Amino acid sequence: MKDANCIFCKLANGDIPTNTLYEDADFRVFMDASPATKGHALVVPKEHFADVYEIDADVLGKAVQVGQKVIKHVTPILGCDGYNLVQNNGEVAGQTVFHFHLHLIPRYKDMNNEGIISWIPNSVDAEELNALKESLKLD
Ligand code: AMP
Ligand code: ZN
Repeated sequence: MKDANCIFCKLANGDIPTNTLYEDADFRVFMDASPATKGHALVVPKEHFADVYEIDADVLGKAVQVGQKVIKHVTPILGCDGYNLVQNNGEVAGQTVFHFHLHLIPRYKDMNNEGIISWIPNSVDAEELNALKESLKLD
């Protein structure tokens, strides 16, 4: 299904031009217009799914496989030293486009990496962590 009001439906399906790196029947991979680092690209399914909750499990699996294929190809070309695969769900998590997409973000040792995929680790009480795990675990 496509959503007529969704910009990524239009980009993924070629209704609006993109800087495309890779395309197959189900996905388009194109350059992010406001990249975190040089080579930042997005894996975008051609079908509309808002987020990880909605996306078909097989499409989700294929999105990661497409991401792997692309990063293996572009890593020696970019000369990057690592990669982040990032996928945001919900406004609070940084999602701004509500059509599922997987960020492929190359990482470079010789640049200022401050603010690129980082968080401040917190300490947690062992008992609290155990109780939380008990309440969350899947049978
Ligand atoms: P997120 O914040 O996870 O929803 O990511 C949305 C991403 O889409 C951001 O990194 C934007 O820079 C990128 N983006 C938004 N519009 C376009 C566009 N027209 N072409 C390419 N990238 C876009
Ligand atoms: Zn869409």
